[in-house]
This record gives sequence, structure tokens and C-alpha cells, in this order.
Amino acid sequence: MKVPFVTKAELDQLTAEFPTPFHLYDERGIRQKARALQAAFAWNEGFKEYFAVKATPTPAILKILHEEGCGVDCASYVELLLSQKTGFDGSEMMFSSNDTPAEEFKFAKEIGATINLDAYEHIQFLETLSDFEFPETMSLRYNPGGVFAMGTKIMDNPEESKFGMTKAQLIQGFKDLQNLGVKKFGMHSFLASNTVTNDYYPKLAHQLFELALEIRQETGITLDFINLSGGIGVNYRPEEEANDIAKIGQGVQKAYQEVLSANGIENLKIYTELGRFMLAPHGHLITRVLHLKETYRKYVGVDASAVNLMRPAFYDAYHHITVAGKENEKATEIYDVTGSLCENNDKFAKQRALPEIQEGDLLVIHDTGAHGFSMGYQYNAKLRSAEILLQENGEARLIRRAEKPSDYFATLDGFDFIC
Ligand SMILES: *Cc1c(COP(=O)(O)O)cnc(C)c1O
Repeated sequence: MKVPFVTKAELDQLTAEFPTPFHLYDERGIRQKARALQAAFAWNEGFKEYFAVKATPTPAILKILHEEGCGVDCASYVELLLSQKTGFDGSEMMFSSNDTPAEEFKFAKEIGATINLDAYEHIQFLETLSDFEFPETMSLRYNPGGVFAMGTKIMDNPEESKFGMTKAQLIQGFKDLQNLGVKKFGMHSFLASNTVTNDYYPKLAHQLFELALEIRQETGITLDFINLSGGIGVNYRPEEEANDIAKIGQGVQKAYQEVLSANGIENLKIYTELGRFMLAPHGHLITRVLHLKETYRKYVGVDASAVNLMRPAFYDAYHHITVAGKENEKATEIYDVTGSLCENNDKFAKQRALPEIQEGDLLVIHDTGAHGFSMGYQYNAKLRSAEILLQENGEARLIRRAEKPSDYFATLDGFDFIC
């Protein structure tokens, strides 16, 4: 059973002040999650989480994570800029981009972010830039190809993934970087997304730790860090069991001892770039029911749409829905819950069993704190919603206002839209 982090009474108060729809975040939950992660990896002295900015690019949220000791993982110029303006030092930034423009490499270098190269070819690309000096520390992204399986279950398909480089390229890449004056080296790999198992990170870590030994043998380089990246998922469905980060930390520690410690490597730092795991459960999309409609199915039309949360339309992803105040009522009705886009895939839920809904009811759409607001768009000239932080002291704070028509028109230079 999934329980919202706000009650109906709290929502009534909130919606009296802030019009729906909006994304709501739970500061307490975010802090607890960050602390649980830090505790799970406290055995590793250099451990650091670089929060994947793309999951929730909202300064107030990034600040909370910063206070909890996290850095940021960026993949674009503006993500770097946003992180810088939010108060992160370059040394707290990982730049894990791909298909990267020259200017972005230069900016990352300039501000001191750690550059994680996605492609072997990028080494030569950087060499040809007249005004790029190789930094002291660099990282390379590995893709082993094949499928990533756990037991008999295929988790993901690295062979088809555009990310990372082959093992031969990786080893040659470290040699090349060494010749170019780089002194410290890291390795990064992201092999399966949204895993709901405590075994993904330990398995990935084991594989990368063994590769670290091979790299040492082939190149003489002892890696400074291994970046396990993202991929620890959340239980979007109520019947799924949530990941246990303490167990995951222990699993990685065991692999570390078996592979690295046993071979005399003690100071290798573990980095993570978690986005979804850190934030998804600590955000709700709050939306109000505008209309009920009955044709061949029963429809609940709400004031949010796929522009506020793209995952159901894009991936057919499941997001749990609670009808505020009806938590204990029986799910007697079958509904499609829709937004207002002129697109039939604009459905937050299809054929979902829910309690009987009335116009004006508030719906809580769960697990929208990561890859929710950030994937938003403006199709049908729909505007982005507000984001609100439920602070630890119980007060709500507007951390991003909703867009206005003038925001939509702001890039249309030469037209005089008065609004
Ligand atoms: C998206 C991404 C992440 C975060 O992934 P989650 O599934 O949100 O944990 C981390 N690192 C890189 C390079 C990414 O692209």
C-alpha cells in the first residue's frame, strides 16, 4: 500500500493557497533518503553521491542534497550552469554527458567538473581543440556489450545502448590519457535502469572491480574512483518491494573486499549518480478532477496532463494514484484517468480500479519527484506547473512558480503579445 506524505486536510490547505496542478516535494523524506545512502556507504572513505540533475533540476531541491553532502551529475551546459549558480563547486560536479559539444567540455574543464568521457573518440576530439588542456583527473564510461542479466532475468541490453566504450577502447583510453598528462582516473558504467532488486549495484560493482584489476595489470593504473552511476530504482507499483539501500551498500562492500581488498586496493572511492532512487518517492503530482465522462469507458479528466508527467504517455509507466480522503474506500470503479491534451496517450492510468470519484476530488499521483517535472514540455501550449516544497517545519514554500502565458511567448521576438 502506498500512502501519500500529505493528508487530505493538508492538501485542502495547500490547494487553497496554490492552484492545482503542482509538484509537491517532501523535504524530510529527501533528507532521510540522503542520510540512508550516506550511511550505507560509510564504509568507503571517499564515497560521494553525485545527484543526477536531470531527474529534478530545481535549485531548492539541489540545495537540500548539497547540505546532505551530495554533489551533482550534469550532462549539459545549462545543468552545469544551474549547479554552479545553486552553489556547487566544480569539484562537486561530475560531467557525464554524451555526444558533447566542444564548448561544454571546455566549460566543464573551466569550472573544475570531473569529465567522464562517453566515447573513446572524444579523447582525440579534445586533443584537436586548440584551447583545451587535459585536466588532472578524468573518467571513462564503460559498456561491456551483450545483455546485462541477473540470474535468468535480462535487466537491460548494453549491446544496443549508445553509451560508453568497449573494454579494448577503455584500456587504450587510459593509456592515451596517461600520455596526455592525466594523473588520476575513474571508471563509470550504467548498465540497467530502474532496477528493483538489491543485487544490481553489487553485481555491477563486482564486474567493475574485476575490470579495475585488469586495467591495473594492462596499464599500471590504479583507479582513483569507480562511479556506479544511476539505476537503483523505486517500487512504482504498490506490490513491488522497495530497494533496501543498507543491503545494497553491504553487497557492494562485500564485492569490494572480495575483489579489491583481496588484491591490495584499499583507497578506491565509490561514487554514485542516483536520481530516481533519491527523489522519485518524495514527490507527488497533485491534480484536481475537472470532469467525469462515460462512453465505452469511464473517464476521470484532471487538470494535469502528460506535459506535467510524461512517463505514463512515453513509457506506459505505472504511477500509483490515491484519491485524497478516500484512502480507506474500496476500489469499486474502473477508470481511465486523463489529461486534456489532444493526444489519446495522455492518460495517467488506464483501466485503474479506484474508489468512486467526484468532480473536485484531489488526486495524488505518486513517485513523481524524479523524471517528473523535469521531463515536462509545452505541447498544446500547456504551461509548466509550479513546484512546492513541504518543509520539515510543516510549512509549504513555492520553489518554482507556474509558467504564465508571457513565459510561453518570451522567445517569440518580434511579436507583440500583450498578456
Ligand atoms: C539518468 C542518469 C543517471 C540517473 O539515473 P536514475 O535512473 O535516475 O538513477 C545517472 N547517471 C547518468 C549518466 C544518467 O544519464
